[in-house]
Amino acid sequence: MATVQTVKGPIDSSELGWTLVHEHVFVLGEEYRLNYEDWDEEQKVADAIRDLNDLKAAGIDTIFDPTVLGLGRYIPRIQKVAAETDLNIVVATGLYTYNDVPHQFEHRGPGLLFDQPEPLVEMFLKDINEGIADTGVKAAFLKCVIEEPGLTPGVERVMRAVGQTSSQTGAPVTVHTNPHTRSGLVAQKVLGEEGVDPAKIVLGHSGDSDDIDYLSELAENGSLLGMDRFGLDVYLSTEKRVDTIVELVRRGYVEKITLAHDASCFIDYFDPKAKAEVQPNWNFRHIPEDVLPMLLEKGVSEDDIDTMLVKNPRRYFE
Ligand SMILES: [Zn+2]
Repeated sequence: MATVQTVKGPIDSSELGWTLVHEHVFVLGEEYRLNYEDWDEEQKVADAIRDLNDLKAAGIDTIFDPTVLGLGRYIPRIQKVAAETDLNIVVATGLYTYNDVPHQFEHRGPGLLFDQPEPLVEMFLKDINEGIADTGVKAAFLKCVIEEPGLTPGVERVMRAVGQTSSQTGAPVTVHTNPHTRSGLVAQKVLGEEGVDPAKIVLGHSGDSDDIDYLSELAENGSLLGMDRFGLDVYLSTEKRVDTIVELVRRGYVEKITLAHDASCFIDYFDPKAKAEVQPNWNFRHIPEDVLPMLLEKGVSEDDIDTMLVKNPRRYFE
């Protein structure tokens, strides 16, 4: 048992239910939106409420939303959506960068022009302990990234700040990794050096790979695998994503598997129509409607699915 902070307040971890560990409500660059986006606030909020209520009707009870600084986190808009759905939304703190830290942090921090304690840690602690801005909504987990450029100075600074915050608070971590560069192993090492329990780490986007040896190594090291981009067939087909999970379950790693789509109600990276045409399965309904039946047909049990969707996300917080 543990308390998990949702947008609408604390719940017990036993109430999480069927959980997708990596979905976004809005991925939206605020500066871009203000200057270039044709944005209808009421319509976009209404669309998101509709999508999340559909997801709830499809059997999903909770999403973890790792939209942090760099991806356009704006909690008042999430609160408007959360108010109109029974789906639990769990939000994060952290920073999303493949390379450098944003300019706001370039000159402030240990050993920098303005030599002071790491401001990232102070921000993350505030979001977790007191709440995000003046919303009263508390972040429940942390997010950082290690992509193709690897452990650049900026990426390492963010990852260590995330690790230190996790060690101090017990908040779990999700890492956007690139499995093709095996960056999950680097994340495990760096976060481990900062005292993070490997069981408190989801290695996001591990499911973009069908390299069973790599995935097994991450699982043996004790972390959860984010098999979390179902529908992004451009990176790996649904068939291969499903077969990879079937093999991992066969090898005894069911307690290390989490599921999600990394989908969003709205993302400003793509034209919505083009996105739907190119990636028709990249939506919240793909796992409940298509992936779960495929897993069952290939011999994964109802119990295994319960472990991946309920027990593992729950244990991550306990
Ligand atoms: Zn994501």
